[in-house]
Amino acid sequence: MVAINSSLPRRQFDVVVVGAGGSGMRCSLQLAQAGLSVAVLSKVFPTRSHTVAAQGGIGASLGNMSEDNWYWHMYDTVKGSDWLGDQDAIEFMCRQAPNAVYELEHFGMPFDRNANGTIYQRPFGGHTANFGEKPVQRACAAADRTGHALLHTLYQRNVAARTQFFVEWMALDLLRNDQGDVVGVTALEMETGEIYILEAKAVVLATGGAGRIWQASTNAFINTGDGLGMAARAGICLQDMEFWQFHPTGVAGAGVLITEGVRGEGGILLNKDGERFMERYAPTLKDLAPRDFVSRSMDQEIKEGRGCGPDGSYVVLKLDHLGADVINKRLPSIREIAIKFGNVDPIKEPIPVVPTIHYQMGGIPANYHGEVVTWENGEEKIVNGLYAIGECAAVSVHGANRLGTNSLLDLVVFGRAAGNRIVESHLERQLAHQDLPKESLDFSLSRVNELESRQSGEKVQDVANSIRMSMQRHCGVFRTLELLNEGVSQIDELAEQAKHVKFDDKSKVFNTARVEALELSNITEVARATIKSAANRTESRGAHALNDHPERDDVNWLKHTLWHSADGRLEYKPVHMKPLTVESFPPKARTF
Ligand SMILES: Cc1cc2nc3c(=O)[nH]c(=O)nc-3n(C[C@H](O)[C@H](O)[C@H](O)COP(=O)(O)OP(=O)(O)OC[C@H]3O[C@@H](n4cnc5c(N)ncnc54)[C@H](O)[C@@H]3O)c2cc1C
Repeated sequence: MVAINSSLPRRQFDVVVVGAGGSGMRCSLQLAQAGLSVAVLSKVFPTRSHTVAAQGGIGASLGNMSEDNWYWHMYDTVKGSDWLGDQDAIEFMCRQAPNAVYELEHFGMPFDRNANGTIYQRPFGGHTANFGEKPVQRACAAADRTGHALLHTLYQRNVAARTQFFVEWMALDLLRNDQGDVVGVTALEMETGEIYILEAKAVVLATGGAGRIWQASTNAFINTGDGLGMAARAGICLQDMEFWQFHPTGVAGAGVLITEGVRGEGGILLNKDGERFMERYAPTLKDLAPRDFVSRSMDQEIKEGRGCGPDGSYVVLKLDHLGADVINKRLPSIREIAIKFGNVDPIKEPIPVVPTIHYQMGGIPANYHGEVVTWENGEEKIVNGLYAIGECAAVSVHGANRLGTNSLLDLVVFGRAAGNRIVESHLERQLAHQDLPKESLDFSLSRVNELESRQSGEKVQDVANSIRMSMQRHCGVFRTLELLNEGVSQIDELAEQAKHVKFDDKSKVFNTARVEALELSNITEVARATIKSAANRTESRGAHALNDHPERDDVNWLKHTLWHSADGRLEYKPVHMKPLTVESFPPKARTF
């Protein structure tokens, strides 16, 4: 038991960054280099964060292999987002992209090279030249291990800059004072089971995605949406949570990802008749149409009886025609994954694939400086001391659907921007540590105490698995209002159960049962936000495809969803249609 407001161990830092993925470590690097004291917390060793699994590439209009410019990249991103992306943030990201990639190159990131020494770039879904005319080569790649190369590079730079890492530490709750400013976090040191108070002048949430609220997912097991849970419990709304990306090519049955880079290199999708069906759905971009589009087309083929395998439950990805040399040089990990998880050698046979949950477009609302913003009286209001970056944030550059390679890009662009913003305000406002807020501290500690002391109740993993099954069934590639509403009732019931779970092993040292029980509260927050937001949006846009309302409805629904967990309320705010310096791209039909 932890005595409330007792002499819990305390530490003070200028900044606490929760998360050591690409976004967290890009931000901490900026801060440590500016001389601030920075603590980076991570549930796992930094280089095991999910960013390490990113395969295909990072998008930037370098134009090394075909003509390109940031304005085309911006257009593709706005169109890819089905016009729900904020155009100021999108312009900011696409303009910064080339410099962000060159900066990584100068940090020592080992990109693949062209014969003339420039960075190798491959085509990727939805990235085009001249406003949709033809695919462009924009994805800067290190074989099919781009995230691995990026994360290790950033880790090494952080070690050199003397960032302090807290490895196997789990942040539990945000601490907010009476004015609502964020002044620190509570955190569990897994090794000892001790809870600490980490005081900070600024807290950065960089906790990554929450793909583990689904049964079939390409995401790491640690992706349980902790930052979103922390924000929701601290009274901060979550934005656009109905928009989740299904990646077209998860290995059937296993969920492990096969990068879109395979199609970028020339791989094609076939149905059971050996037909390249994407030619019918997207005559111009074919297999390289954006992910929401390809996933729906695959689902359609399977539903209409043209799936492969004994149950007709998947389609196949053929790449043997690329030849062993290309596969071994550009896609070595993909070959390994196909052999280990799909039981096929792609040099000889096609890989069985199905759409699999992959990425959350929604998250904690933030502006393009990384500052968290709430919505009050028709205006965005900054939460002092709180920043959100990476997959847990909704900036929103991805809107209703993210283009491949734009996530690694957003990690480094907004990680750096948030770092700069914190350094500026630190210098300008001479920020000091503030008093610890008793109420907020009591809340966090009593939450943990209650969980620790409960003697009876549901098992943690039973409730977590029921949530995953329910999300998978009720909130899939194609949705109906009936299915969604059933899902809302189920998730509400499971959320009740989650309040009364118990775990038997109360030991302190490396107790993973305790960690899983704490993660469940975050999984529950994210699942509720998702299904409630989805059941209320009566249109189809990007990754939210509703059979009962198959069209996009710009008159009523060109707006961001905001979910308030405390009172179960949804509200809406306008999309930023105005870019920073160029003309706006007005909505139009999305064909490929
Ligand atoms: C298999 C796969 C392949 C992908 N390929 C690409 C690609 O080629 N190109 C692309 O652009 N995007 C790709 N993506 C998406 C992209 O990789 C992710 O969106 C991105 O890496 C997320 O980075 P992040 O910094 O937000 O978080 P992550 O890298 O997920 O890191 C999250 C960090 O937060 C920590 N954390 C979480 N909760 C807590 C807590 N409570 N306390 C302390 N620490 C906590 C974790 O330990 C971890 O360090 C891919 C995603 C997957 C799953």
